[in-house]
Amino acid sequence: MKTLGIIGGMSYESSKLFYELINNRVNDIMGGYHCCKSIMYTVDFDEIVKLQNEEKWAELDLIVADISRKLELAGSDMIVLCTNTLHICSDSIKNSVKIPFLHIGEAVGEEAKKKYIKKAGLLGTKFTMEKDFYKKVLLDKYGIDVVIPGEKDRDTVHDIIFNELVRGHIKESSRNKFIDIIKRLERNGAEGVILGCTEIPTLISEEYVDIPVFDSIRIHAEKAVEWILKD
Ligand code: GLU
Repeated sequence: MKTLGIIGGMSYESSKLFYELINNRVNDIMGGYHCCKSIMYTVDFDEIVKLQNEEKWAELDLIVADISRKLELAGSDMIVLCTNTLHICSDSIKNSVKIPFLHIGEAVGEEAKKKYIKKAGLLGTKFTMEKDFYKKVLLDKYGIDVVIPGEKDRDTVHDIIFNELVRGHIKESSRNKFIDIIKRLERNGAEGVILGCTEIPTLISEEYVDIPVFDSIRIHAEKAVEWILKD
């Protein structure tokens, strides 16, 4: 088994989930007492949120590059960034290390393409929904058109992520808002919905909606395990 290098802490709620997913997955496949060899570097999320809100992407580029080098030096064979938003800095990670980097949007795109999805709804932070870095990967690499919620719904999604989900607060009223937003995405042509934020699956899952759900954190974890178990 190879060793997975994880950039985590964005938020620690989702890193907990990722850690559980990769270990359960390895154990399901290998049995016994097997679990995932990994090294996680956890950031102080408050520093990251401030830089994201100030759109200081160049500073964030330097932070993720530095962490990636540390993970490589510590013996990681591959790097994953356990959040969707900071994939805006993915080139900086790729350029700073020799080991492979598994892009969360590519993992999701591959999965959605396998299910013949041509148009997908995207839920995530306002950076993930509004900027190009995520949608472009889906369109250019996998031919998937992205539909995002209207402005008011985008604010709702973003605020629920930062005021509730990253703090581990799960509210029925927020789940209902997400269900309604997903229905509107469906009416706008979405054949499936991408949970493009690693905390959203703590609130919503396939059982609450009528269209296929692509859970970025689960898909990312499964692909990472597939890779580290390959010869
Ligand atoms: N973890 C979230 C994501 O997947 C959002 C929190 C953040 O801004 O890192 O995008």
